[in-house]
Amino acid sequence: MIGEEALAGLLKKPNLRMTRQRMIILEELRKVNTHPSADEVYEMVRKRLPRISLGTVYRNLEILSKTGEIQKLEPGSSLKRFDGNPHEHYHIRCIQCDRVVDAHMKCAFSFDDVPNEMRDFKIIGHKLEFIGLCPECVEDSLPA
Ligand SMILES: [Zn+2]
Ligand SMILES: [Zn+2]
Repeated sequence: MIGEEALAGLLKKPNLRMTRQRMIILEELRKVNTHPSADEVYEMVRKRLPRISLGTVYRNLEILSKTGEIQKLEPGSSLKRFDGNPHEHYHIRCIQCDRVVDAHMKCAFSFDDVPNEMRDFKIIGHKLEFIGLCPECVEDSLPA
């Protein structure tokens, strides 16, 4: 985990090579809606930057998610995933194959209804993850 100070230093440092790498990572991530893991982003980016390291990809993904350029998803599974779409939206995750798909639906509750135990918190957002079986896994689970 990178400290806030170190992060600020990184962002201020006029390192063009870093910036170009970060741009390419962002471009590649925005091309897909599969919510790839850092390893998967690395494989995508390596086609354009053969010498990039997994650590560099990981570091840039962390920076991009801190600056709000992308979203870091930490679903119920152990795998950390990244989303090139920075806007708030929900996801549905297949509990069998761990695929994550966008669920474009409106927030169904009002923040006026928050219960007392939440009132002392400064609420900055919320997360909601739907879980289930994707169409392929439903088909696989049917008797042949
Ligand atoms: Zn599935
Ligand atoms: Zn998404």
